[in-house]
Amino acid sequence: MNTFAGGSIESVLVEKRVFPPPVEFAKSARISSMEEYRTLWNRAKDDPQGFWNDMASHLVWRKPWDKVMEWTEPHVKWYVGGQLNASENCVDRHCVGPRRNKAALIWEGEPGDRRVLRYQDLKREVGRFANVLKAQGVTKGDVVAIYMPMVPELVIAMLACARIGAPHTVVFGGFSGEALAGRIQDCSAKVLVTADGGFRRGNIIHLKEQVDEALAHCPTIRNVVVLKRTGHQIHMEPGRDHWWHEMASIASADCPPEPLDSEHPLFILYTSGSTGTPKGILHTTGGYLVGTTLTASWVFDLKEEDTYFCTADCGWITGHSYLVYGPLSNGATVVMYEGAPDYPDKDRFWQIVQDYGVTIFYTAPTAIRAFMKWGEQYARKHDLSSLRLLGTVGEPINPEAWVWYREVIGGGRCPVVDTWWQTETGAIMIAPLPGATPTKPGTATLPLPGVVPEVVTKSGEPVEPNQGGYLVIKQPWPSMMRTIHGDDERYRRQYWSEIPGVYFTGDGARRDHDGNFWIMGRVDDVLNVAGHRLSTMEIESALVHHKAVAEAAVVGKPDELRGQAITAFVTLKSGYQPSEDLRQQLRQHVAHEIGALARPDDLRFTDALPKTRSGKIMRRLLRDVAAGVESTGDTSTLEDFSVLARLRHEEE
Ligand code: ATP
Ligand code: MG
Repeated sequence: MNTFAGGSIESVLVEKRVFPPPVEFAKSARISSMEEYRTLWNRAKDDPQGFWNDMASHLVWRKPWDKVMEWTEPHVKWYVGGQLNASENCVDRHCVGPRRNKAALIWEGEPGDRRVLRYQDLKREVGRFANVLKAQGVTKGDVVAIYMPMVPELVIAMLACARIGAPHTVVFGGFSGEALAGRIQDCSAKVLVTADGGFRRGNIIHLKEQVDEALAHCPTIRNVVVLKRTGHQIHMEPGRDHWWHEMASIASADCPPEPLDSEHPLFILYTSGSTGTPKGILHTTGGYLVGTTLTASWVFDLKEEDTYFCTADCGWITGHSYLVYGPLSNGATVVMYEGAPDYPDKDRFWQIVQDYGVTIFYTAPTAIRAFMKWGEQYARKHDLSSLRLLGTVGEPINPEAWVWYREVIGGGRCPVVDTWWQTETGAIMIAPLPGATPTKPGTATLPLPGVVPEVVTKSGEPVEPNQGGYLVIKQPWPSMMRTIHGDDERYRRQYWSEIPGVYFTGDGARRDHDGNFWIMGRVDDVLNVAGHRLSTMEIESALVHHKAVAEAAVVGKPDELRGQAITAFVTLKSGYQPSEDLRQQLRQHVAHEIGALARPDDLRFTDALPKTRSGKIMRRLLRDVAAGVESTGDTSTLEDFSVLARLRHEEE
């Protein structure tokens, strides 16, 4: 290991396994060779305007644009003067010709109820709900908040908003009334779409109760539309609350899509809150849809006959871009599931894959680590032979989890696409093209065409291969965020000021000699041990490599002598018990895998790690636990407060 100046991060992880695309897969893939990929990428880099001009032809436009891009750092406009409608692109255009009878959404509720909406059905329901929204006084530009369980009406509501030009803000159905109120207040939503409740692990989630609490503090909300999902008794506020089914029964299904300017706001979405207070990320119509449409087709290699299952909730960007807009714009069949992955048992996803013949499966590392912890017998119970492609997003995936995913779920035959992107980027930025890119466990590999990332020092100098640094993007791209809603100053400061002239992602990365990008986690999480800057992710991956470990989170604890000491929080796989002996073994294991410098000074066993509702480890809270101080930061997106309380208690 070398030490180097300029704020670079040292890399200690060595991964040599390489998996080229399966020959059969590559034969029929949309992009089927590295040569094809490089040609596209180079063209996009050398002539971004020409490239993105051509790529926009994958959408239906009402009016062509006058100018492809206008860039006044840090603000960008794409397809200036053009007009289109996102719901028309996701629905109406598939309703002419044979696709009109194709399943757009295959939905399964947690209790086992099932529904299929063909493209024609989706068009009718979206049109009808767009008319309901109009009847509630929603006009172009009004923000509509959506707080629902994962039911088809959530997708219908999003597309209905898009149809009439009302930006939506989807708030995850697991959030509290307080978190909901904060988001509604921040974006001044006028109407709220919700449900009486939803099902989770066999229980009812009482959404409407949370709504009633939230709305005491949200004067901008005039009307609430309530879907009956669970059927339990709820309060309906006269004059404010209206049943979805009653409104829909008197609304016409015919609502022509409104032609909207390319830069018309499509949605505001709050980030996961892993690193601080969630930010209201604003995305607009044309560029976002071009980005999500293309990347869904490239990275998931979507074909007419695919059945695509994305396990993300629509409350996160993955649900927006790769459950709704990207796949539907491509005319794909999307599988949507309402509930928990372990209800009624830990094989629920595999039952769904088998029952619907899912071909493409997209999930998060946190889920994969849970599957590993539960054991492979759950997957083995089902026929998963329909699968042809696997994807992951949300956190760096530990190489052991990657290999497990490929072998146990993918039967060793499916390419794995590790997709790096952010709420802010709107669409996938760095990922393998499954028919072209050789993959290695733990790297998101190469940038997609039109994406020009680099790894640099704090002052913007490129670093040498295999040295860690700050991940930045050097050229604007169509699906990038336009601003933080209501806080353009924070937009400038956070993304465009840290490192001169480029978009700063907030993530650390290194690039290997083949050009692959290895995401090393958040820059804020980087450890500083005796002058060495180490990535938490690499130490965690070394721990997860041990057969007893299910999950690990590593943070720094202030240390007078060395700056920081390394504290590791570890959860064990079923069948293993915490012991002093295992603790020493694991510390030794890290030293052996990556060097004595990375050996955790302190290693603590725990049942669970604090995570965001989107499943990301919240290291900032663990830092406080390690240091023995109270957390003062935003905890509104914490999944389970009891985890934090237990960790603190274990301290005492
Ligand atoms: P906040 O910005 O509020 O702290 P967040 O960054 O977790 O929350 P998201 O936009 O949902 O909110 O997540 C984007 C981040 O997730 C990325 O910046 C990166 O740190 C991480 N991430 C996503 N996909 C990957 C991946 N494939 N590999 C590594 N990290 C990933
Ligand atoms: Mg972020």
